[in-house]
Amino acid sequence: MATNSQPTERRQTKAVSVGPVVIGGGAPIVVQSMTNTDTADVAATVAQVALLARAGSELVRITVDRDEAARAVPHIRDQLARDGVSVPLVGDFHYIGHQLLDKHPACAEALDKYRINPGNVGFREKRDRQFSSMIEKALEYNKPVRIGVNWGSLDQELLARLMDENAERQEPASAEAVLENALVTSAIASAERAEELGLGRDRIILSCKVSDVQGLISVYRAMALRGDYALHLGLTEAGMGSKGIVASTAAMAVLLQEGIGDTIRISLTPEPGGDRSQEVIVAQEMLQTMGIRAFSPLVTACPGCGRTTSTVFQELASVIQEFLRERMVYWRDAYPGSETLNVAVMGCIVNGPGESKHSDIGISLPGTGETPAAPVFIDGEKAMTLRGEGIAEAFKEIVENYVVKRYGSSDTDTSTNAAE
Ligand code: SF4
Repeated sequence: MATNSQPTERRQTKAVSVGPVVIGGGAPIVVQSMTNTDTADVAATVAQVALLARAGSELVRITVDRDEAARAVPHIRDQLARDGVSVPLVGDFHYIGHQLLDKHPACAEALDKYRINPGNVGFREKRDRQFSSMIEKALEYNKPVRIGVNWGSLDQELLARLMDENAERQEPASAEAVLENALVTSAIASAERAEELGLGRDRIILSCKVSDVQGLISVYRAMALRGDYALHLGLTEAGMGSKGIVASTAAMAVLLQEGIGDTIRISLTPEPGGDRSQEVIVAQEMLQTMGIRAFSPLVTACPGCGRTTSTVFQELASVIQEFLRERMVYWRDAYPGSETLNVAVMGCIVNGPGESKHSDIGISLPGTGETPAAPVFIDGEKAMTLRGEGIAEAFKEIVENYVVKRYGSSDTDTSTNAAE
């Protein structure tokens, strides 16, 4: 099945350019991520930004929390350029962003976008002055901003005022409803202030992150009714492993299905020493499995059951998925369209041939007690049968040849000797 169609009509938003990347305005939904290195450590940050970019992150956010980090930013940008990595960099500012942008013009210039948290920009009379200072820097350096509200750092004065007003109502709303209203109000009021200062709506992206699924859905539905700002979706503090993946997907899938959201980040907590790029892969797979945007061929595989008592089938599914992801780095430019390829790896004859026929290429491995032969289906037709050792390598070669033949130029060599 083709995977470039949208599941529903996208909400109309202003297009915002972040370097060469366009967010909103009907552009494909942008996948972004964030480093967890100390930004002052140039080598470590460059390595992780490159890792995330190569995994497919289209924007990478880095923490800019002190002078050393701000001083490092232009060096990070320069080293990435020397390494051939051009992914836009977003500076994540809290508390002293106004000072850092003022003291470090090279940092302000090197970044492609500034993230401003209205809850952490200063208190009382300082808040507007410091927020305004950051917006003025965005104007001076011609950068877009993300006004990113987070319920862990919500403007407490605003929340207290809305709670007091709610308490005086004849029929007060629930505390959750007031909190959600405070989040949305903080984001919208800050965006309106930025516009008053001269920053166009085509340079403002909004986010309003909470850490529970129903809350996130409710907040973003409300945000979507409050103007045509481009929206950045993300469930904050989603957590580790399957919990983080499931919670993020559950929340964002509902919103994306309703056409809400222009850019996404999956905020996974990595395992100690784990691969930071997992959050990029999860974001891509969520968009791809929803039929919103294709990034890399995906493997359809059955769960296995009592008919697959060896690990051959699981190993092949894993090997092929990894192969597809690795080859996509090359195929992306050489064979446009190959990202929509569907490959099936099935465990036995019950559903194997049927599912394989529905894929571009499918292989049905022999289940326990079946003849040790693996029929391969190409474009719905049985094309060959693989046997014996080396099925994985033979199948990879078949996939490679298929990609060359279908997505490459007509004079490419498409021969294969993998099949019997
Ligand atoms: S295709 Fe075969 S091995 Fe896979 S789940 Fe179905 S019955 Fe089990």
